[in-house]
Amino acid sequence: MAKGLVVILSGASSVGKGAIRDLLLNDPDLKLFYSISETTRPQRADEVDGKDYYFVTYKEFADSVKKKELLEYTEFNGYYYGTPKQQVEFLTQKGKNVLIEVEAQGVGPIKLNIPESIAFFVMPESIEQLEKQIFELYGDDEASAQRRINKAKMDMELAPLFNNIVYNSDPVKAYEQIKAVLLKEMGAK
Ligand code: 5GP
Repeated sequence: MAKGLVVILSGASSVGKGAIRDLLLNDPDLKLFYSISETTRPQRADEVDGKDYYFVTYKEFADSVKKKELLEYTEFNGYYYGTPKQQVEFLTQKGKNVLIEVEAQGVGPIKLNIPESIAFFVMPESIEQLEKQIFELYGDDEASAQRRINKAKMDMELAPLFNNIVYNSDPVKAYEQIKAVLLKEMGAK
């Protein structure tokens, strides 16, 4: 059986990857399974443990790192996030296509481990528009908003490393662009 495809969705911090991710995951033509990350971030009210994330303690996360159970991991805004290796291997061995959503630093290590993976980088329409969006969402904590803006600017420096850059002027258009590339790739397999 052919191995499933590994699709990486990344982009500048706070660019709105979530909406694109949900459109991709809900598309029956793509049959994508979501790679659920481990995180030490506290669970939000609308999140489900084991569906959105595996919410773990620092000790549990450190154990996963020590046992080399993560494909990659990073620190973001004071919390740790990592991609469990076994889940991705299990699904792709069974021929399933997997979608991994990571912030920009996570892409390099995944590409090193899985060179045949396809990475998409979501860019904002403009940095001004992204700054406005970040201040609207996180403006009540100015330091945190500023950290996100700085991180987005650093992330955008990595964009030229990606073959597939998608501008998020409209999440539906961005999703359609990604879908077209994936359908071609899946047809070629
Ligand atoms: P949030 O806390 O808003 O759910 O996620 C914060 C950031 O962490 C987002 O940019 C998200 O894509 C990223 N992220 C989620 N899971 C992982 C992961 O396993 N590895 C890495 N590198 N980033 C992740």
